[in-house]
Amino acid sequence: MAVPKRKTSKAKRDSRRAPNMKKALPGLSICPQCHEPKLPHRVCPNCNYYDGKEIVADNAAEA
Ligand SMILES: [Zn+2]
Repeated sequence: MAVPKRKTSKAKRDSRRAPNMKKALPGLSICPQCHEPKLPHRVCPNCNYYDGKEIVADNAAEA
C-alpha cells in the first residue's frame, strides 16, 4: 500500500483545511423591520419581530 514519503507540513495541512473554516459561522441575514443583522429563521434580537409581526415571548427560557 502506498505510504506518504514525507510528513505533511503544518502550512500544507492548515492551508488545505482553511477553505472549510469559512463555513464554521452561520450566515447572517438583515432584519426587514430594523435592518439589523440577525440569524436567519430567528426572531430578531433587536426588535423582536419575525415575519412582519412582533413576537411576545411567553416563556422566559425561550427569551
Ligand atoms: Zn429587527
